[in-house]
Amino acid sequence: MKREEHAEEFFRGRTWYGLEAVIEVRSGFWHKAGFGTFLIPHPPLVNGLLRKGLSRRENETLSCIHEFGHLQTLPLYLIYTVILVSILINNGHNSIIELVLALISTHAFWEIISESYTMFHSGRLYHSYYRNIAVLPRLLFWLIVTFFTIGGWTIFMVDAGRIP
Ligand SMILES: [Zn+2]
Repeated sequence: MKREEHAEEFFRGRTWYGLEAVIEVRSGFWHKAGFGTFLIPHPPLVNGLLRKGLSRRENETLSCIHEFGHLQTLPLYLIYTVILVSILINNGHNSIIELVLALISTHAFWEIISESYTMFHSGRLYHSYYRNIAVLPRLLFWLIVTFFTIGGWTIFMVDAGRIP
């Protein structure tokens, strides 16, 4: 992943499956991430929570790696989503509400693997950034994404009759 010289918050990097990822991360603005000119703008909800208390530079560095993590793990996320949604539909639960819950659940899983990617990729930097930062926002993040990830599978288990 290399930083563009003309814009500090603009990154390009090649994903392991060969597509050129483009990421734009600026504090106080919506983030953009995608491939080539196809960029999806989104509010920095997760990064806003996770990066509380960090300096602007630290925030943008980790947010950028996190966004890149989403693109690096996109194939895994898609396979995981197809599997979970197929299981739900095969079990006869295909209402819009259940599908939306399943998608929230798979997105929570995507957040887990993207932030894990961020921790792995930034290594000791990650821990040094957070050394004097309150743990509560990060704890909240991990609790929420774990809850929704497991929640999605709970729907499936109820469908399959494994939980009465
Ligand atoms: Zn994310």
